[in-house]
Amino acid sequence: MEMKEIKQKVLNCTDCELHKSKTKYVFGEGDETTQLMFIGEAPGANEDKQGRPFVGKAGKIFDELLGSIDLNRGDVYICNILKCRPPNNRNPQQNEIEACTKYLNAQIDTMKPTIICTMGNFATEFILKKYGVKTEEKRISKLHGKIFKVTNLFGSTEIVPLYHPAVATYAPEMKTVLMQDMKIVQRLL
Ligand code: URA
Repeated sequence: MEMKEIKQKVLNCTDCELHKSKTKYVFGEGDETTQLMFIGEAPGANEDKQGRPFVGKAGKIFDELLGSIDLNRGDVYICNILKCRPPNNRNPQQNEIEACTKYLNAQIDTMKPTIICTMGNFATEFILKKYGVKTEEKRISKLHGKIFKVTNLFGSTEIVPLYHPAVATYAPEMKTVLMQDMKIVQRLL
């Protein structure tokens, strides 16, 4: 499916309750031909208003992280597990993830990224499970910065779990860890 067709489906989606409380759908954006895809959790307040991923506080940190390896938003593709904001930024619920991730799966099938960076626990859990990667440790504190190579129909993809950039908004010292993990991503490019 073409990206614009997937987007059209998202913009008409009523498959879970979140479409009722959201302001705008947040489909994702960036270079659709790139090999590098970043997956976050769900839109927050700013994203919900603007209809764009990572444009709030966490987005500022995300931009800095990209900048630290000489990339900017136009060089990568950015999207989320959920395309609608959960009220008060609560965690995504299992039924919402189940309803929504058909769109993320379609985005992945269309782009065929060779590197997928999952940001935070929800994206990491979903992607590792999707590709059948079993890990003893599930927590991002243990998985971040590791590289999981998986084979799929279009070749192979390296999955790199990262802390969610929002951690640096309440624990500024975490930015160092985030930047170190970005160097790992850079080496894969
Ligand atoms: N946090 C996310 O996970 N995604 C966004 O788009 C913004 C904040």
